[in-house]
Amino acid sequence: MSAFDSLKDTLEQRKQDHLYRSRRTLNAAQQPETLIDGKPVLAFCSNDYLGLANDPRVIERFRTAATEFGVGSGASHLVNGHSAEHHALEEELAIFTGRDRALLFSTGYMANLGTINALLDHQDAVFEDKLNHASLLDGGLNSGARFQRYLHNDVTSLDKRLSKDQSRRRLVVTDGVFSMDGDCAPMADLVQTCQQHDAWLMVDDAHGLGCLGDKGQGLCAGFDQNQVQVLMGTLGKAFGTSGAFVAGSETLIETLIQFARPYIYTTAIPPAVAAATRTSLHIVQQEPERRAHLQKLIQTFRSEVAAMGLVLMDSPTPIQPVLIGSEAETLAWSQALETQGILVTAIRPPTVPKGTARLRVTFSASHTEAQLERLLTALQQIAQQRGIPEVAL
Ligand code: PMP
Repeated sequence: MSAFDSLKDTLEQRKQDHLYRSRRTLNAAQQPETLIDGKPVLAFCSNDYLGLANDPRVIERFRTAATEFGVGSGASHLVNGHSAEHHALEEELAIFTGRDRALLFSTGYMANLGTINALLDHQDAVFEDKLNHASLLDGGLNSGARFQRYLHNDVTSLDKRLSKDQSRRRLVVTDGVFSMDGDCAPMADLVQTCQQHDAWLMVDDAHGLGCLGDKGQGLCAGFDQNQVQVLMGTLGKAFGTSGAFVAGSETLIETLIQFARPYIYTTAIPPAVAAATRTSLHIVQQEPERRAHLQKLIQTFRSEVAAMGLVLMDSPTPIQPVLIGSEAETLAWSQALETQGILVTAIRPPTVPKGTARLRVTFSASHTEAQLERLLTALQQIAQQRGIPEVAL
């Protein structure tokens, strides 16, 4: 026996279960038509929803800020890594979200982990939607608080759990837009239920910010910090850069600065990333035509795919999963698309429940109607060859 034989068995089993994950290498910029593993592809799997990862204005600001501030931040925010660009971005994000303050984190994963852990301990309880992002679930599990999951988007299920709980602090946590289904949390009902039970509400709007709302304020537009006490957003999706933030009251932000370990003990994102994000934040608000184009692509896709008899989810967002069902069949569809030069990720358990494996199609404002047409034609051909999968939701 050699040191890692038992791990090799685990890996082998994962392959046999069609659950093995592997990476591809991008040889060009993150945009719809790019090069992956040296081959030209048309990709429908990025989170660059507004096409800002390649916007010349964002790139130019990144370049000038790197000349001014250097490449790395060199330290954590609390040592001496907090630059004027970070500070200005925090102030602008606070205004954008209508909150007292915002705090930058290096990734969304760390923002969620750090925030939940800073707010709760074993005297408290956390209530999470069953389909929450892994980082929210991990944050809740690590906090030591009583951990409960309620049925997906089911406020009655949440209400029952809150009614039975007597913990000191109660935090309800939800994705704004669910990352694997693309559907939205029932905000007004959640706010009302939390208020009835004197619970705090945390919304991770990683996929809603930039995409939804008149100016891209996301799913929480119209809900203030007394209704959604903790608003989390990421910068690596619609904003096209990298990092994340939490926005809320002065007390919330000061608590995070004091107690959120993934904030305190990590290097700040490069100042040039903060500077470039300020440019994207401006574009997000000033160019609603990007959201309009995105919505047009989404509507065309939905009506055409439904007409083919394929099963879609209840999603008004750029995340448009096509349900296939079995893991093997989903992989086969994804591979058939790839032979036509189209990249769509196959999402399988444990990321999604068993029997609901899917093609996760995501749209960007940088997709053209002709590119959408190529995807639709390919799906139609594969449906003819393989048949329409039967999926029970
Ligand atoms: N929350 C949600 C809902 C996400 O989808 C993601 C990333 N896929 C994250 C948090 C993590 O964000 P980041 O990639 O910045 O770590």
